[in-house]
Amino acid sequence: SKWTREAIFEDAKAKNVHFIRLAFSDVNGILKNVEIPVSQLDKALDNEMAFDGSSIDGFVRIEEADMKLYPDLDTWTVFPWGSDDKKIAILICDIYTTDGEPFAGDPRGNLKRMVEKLDDFGFSSFNLGPEPEFFLFKIGEDGNATTRVNDVGGYFDVAPVDLGENCRREIVLVLEDLGFEVEASHHEVAIGQHEIDFKYANVVDACDKIQLFKLIVKTIARKYDLHATFMPKPIYGINGSGMHCNMSLFKGDENVFYDANTDNQLSETAMQFIAGVLEHAKAITAVANPIVNSYKRLVSGYEAPVNIAWSTRNRSPLIRIPAARGKSTRVELRSVDPAANPYLALAAILGAGLKGIENEMVAPAPIDRNVYKMTADELANGGIDKLPNSLSRALDELELDEVVQESLGAHITANFLSSKRIEFQEYLHQVTDWELNTYLEQY
Ligand code: GLN
Ligand code: MG
Ligand code: MG
Ligand code: MG
Repeated sequence: SKWTREAIFEDAKAKNVHFIRLAFSDVNGILKNVEIPVSQLDKALDNEMAFDGSSIDGFVRIEEADMKLYPDLDTWTVFPWGSDDKKIAILICDIYTTDGEPFAGDPRGNLKRMVEKLDDFGFSSFNLGPEPEFFLFKIGEDGNATTRVNDVGGYFDVAPVDLGENCRREIVLVLEDLGFEVEASHHEVAIGQHEIDFKYANVVDACDKIQLFKLIVKTIARKYDLHATFMPKPIYGINGSGMHCNMSLFKGDENVFYDANTDNQLSETAMQFIAGVLEHAKAITAVANPIVNSYKRLVSGYEAPVNIAWSTRNRSPLIRIPAARGKSTRVELRSVDPAANPYLALAAILGAGLKGIENEMVAPAPIDRNVYKMTADELANGGIDKLPNSLSRALDELELDEVVQESLGAHITANFLSSKRIEFQEYLHQVTDWELNTYLEQY
């Protein structure tokens, strides 16, 4: 591992770190933390920091509340802000019970459990390169976020159209400071929308980075009086925000998705992985698109997938295979949105992909045309199914899918289903602006 206990103490001293955030993610993917002064670092690194798990969404009931935080040394990161003599650092933690067992309801711990399965297949790592998108909105007079964008730029536009540019650039600088290898940053298709891509890493590391990324983006945006949101579809009628997931499996140094000797230079393993993900796509949607608003994005015409298909060329299906081969061969899943708890979404996707490999599943033929433009008959004849179109339907699919349930573990599955059912019920009871605008005067 990169960091030892001694190195962390030295670094804390050298950089004048005074506060350490011990962080973890709840079931909804919200980053939580308890902040300790450096005097408590010893105790924290002894895994002695306790907290009340019953107060965290989706964790446990009152009766079994005590939990412990086990900091992952390799996540040690010092933020560039805070006063020079009192810097702030963060350690991402795993959650353990007081008996010293990994807590089954911890999304990060669960992903680690799934990653261990790679061993059984002889794989050494499952890599993720995420492409999170977000909007920058103006903050109103009252200090609250609005949905007014701060620019009217479009795909790859440059300043002065792209007023978000300075803010985005500062985000990139901070990310680099924190050890991210940023590969690209650009204005996205929609007004006010941006994307920053960072280099792939093993899946747990990449998910940690996604969680840190959101924190950094929101923090820097505030400096520019902007609100950054990862809500999947904040504005009707224009593209929403996705978080494409580029994934590959490695055996040592070798990308096992690549095979120079097949027609499309994808290995049989890659095809089986794709088959597994397609087979379980509906249930995966529950965790990849976990909020009511996620389904406002998954509609046709806005570059987000609707149909369960894959392609080596077209961007409209659920899975696309980018052109790069060799070490960069990867499967891009385009449904995932940035509201997803990345640890849960990736555990589900990995479980489905590995099931495809284990069962030697056969992928359907690729669809190398625009699936948005195919008629219902064409889709039916091609055996192309659709993703669930609401959170409620996605939850129904999760309830039927044992492979995805097992990938999340029984504890997380049960808590996720019950809290999401409540969320959907609450939504169903709402009377929306659209209804009032459409019906109030007409009826
Ligand atoms: N914003 C689109 C989505 O919702 C993706 C656009 C793109 O990256 N080409 O997924
Ligand atoms: Mg991109
Ligand atoms: Mg994009
Ligand atoms: Mg992409």
